[in-house]
Amino acid sequence: MSISVAIVGSGPSGFYTAAALLELGADCTIDIIERLPTPYGLIRGGVAPDHQTTKRVMRAYERTALHSKVRYYGNVELGKDIALGELRALYDAVVLSVGAPFDRPLGIPGEDKHGVIGSAAFVGWYNGHPDFRDLDPDLATKAVVVIGNGNVAIDIARVLVKSKAEMAATDLPGYAEAAIRASPIADVYMAGRRGPIEAKFTNVELREMGELEDCHPVVEAAQLPDTVTGEMSDRDRRLREKNMASMREFAAQSPAGKSKRVHFTFFAKPVEILGGGRVEGIRFERTKVTDGRAVDTGEFFEIACGLVLPAIGYQGAALEGAPFDARGGVIPNARGRVEPGLYVAGWIKRGPTGVIGTNKPDGDEAAEAILADAGAGGKPGRSALDAHLASRNVVPVSFADWKTIEAAEIAAAAPGAPREKFCRVRDLLAVLGR
Ligand code: NAP
Repeated sequence: MSISVAIVGSGPSGFYTAAALLELGADCTIDIIERLPTPYGLIRGGVAPDHQTTKRVMRAYERTALHSKVRYYGNVELGKDIALGELRALYDAVVLSVGAPFDRPLGIPGEDKHGVIGSAAFVGWYNGHPDFRDLDPDLATKAVVVIGNGNVAIDIARVLVKSKAEMAATDLPGYAEAAIRASPIADVYMAGRRGPIEAKFTNVELREMGELEDCHPVVEAAQLPDTVTGEMSDRDRRLREKNMASMREFAAQSPAGKSKRVHFTFFAKPVEILGGGRVEGIRFERTKVTDGRAVDTGEFFEIACGLVLPAIGYQGAALEGAPFDARGGVIPNARGRVEPGLYVAGWIKRGPTGVIGTNKPDGDEAAEAILADAGAGGKPGRSALDAHLASRNVVPVSFADWKTIEAAEIAAAAPGAPREKFCRVRDLLAVLGR
């Protein structure tokens, strides 16, 4: 008998779980349930708009979505249109691949001021995510501080300083493009609480900062160590040495008439966001790094700015009907199995780290656990979901509907751009005449 599988969340980990089930030759039906009308999670809403090559992985996910065993249910929200308990009653296996959509708080005074915007919201805004379409960030400032030394921090810095020409072949939505062009932002400070060796951004992303048309990367040569020291694998050492080499090149580069700067600001632990109702600056404590850890020095300094964008990592949220480890922001599991019948993959399983490919082994593990537990199957799955949704007057967005939306986005694109996204749920549904 065929087993029925529901996968909640259509980002990379959801699609890799579906693909793994198909590769294992499972006799199954797979229904991918997604809160938004549009699929692909962070590929559409998180990967930077100027990283179109990375977004190409959508093509592989599309092949999975078009498989005869797979059906896409967009615009269906777990917890609203169907409760987790109800879904589990209908399906032999439910996989939660819902990601880690919220910003971790900084936990310092002033964090609630106007002009402090976490990376989940800010990245969502410039990526046309419906939750953040109307964020309307106030970019009327010359200086911005991005907190964090990860790839998200570097993405944000880069999108803010790239020129119009550099963003032409991207899917940065028109409203975000207009806001960034109208902004006087000239200095972006990217602040890490540890040093250049400990920075988490990868070398491809770092190197891009040295190749920008109108932005100079500012690195203080004195902050760069002569050699990469500390306990680490040979691979890590090589990667960090590459980063040091790139930063040494930056330190030697001339500003050459460029009108913007990204300042790599190391050994800077944020302690307070300054200003009245709105941000006017940020106070840092200078750190030194001992055994890989940031140690306070008692020395403070301030940077004046009108916008603070913490990019310090994400966290998952509790879902009714599933256990939750609030400290780790994950659903406790053993190799993807929460309990027989309930599985996890991606950031809600293991926290918000890794690249897109890191989700593939998650999909493999979840698929193997599902098949090990499933027995003969027997729960009705799809037909019962259709009946449930119809009883609630919920009309899902099918994959064919999504392709209609996508075709309209491609048709609306400016010359050279891959698409012009529809960014509000009502606008997405309007394409379908709903
Ligand atoms: P991340 O790589 O974990 O970086 C978070 C940064 O925030 C670190 O520099 C961290 O410093 C800092 N931080 C954390 N808490 C802080 C605090 N309280 N005060 C000051 N700084 C703090 O996370 P991410 O940038 O959000 O990226 C998430 C994952 O997605 C990563 O695995 C990343 O590589 C991946 N990603 C990849 C790409 C790409 O491949 N192009 C693009 C975007 C994201 P410490 O190191 O000191 O903790």
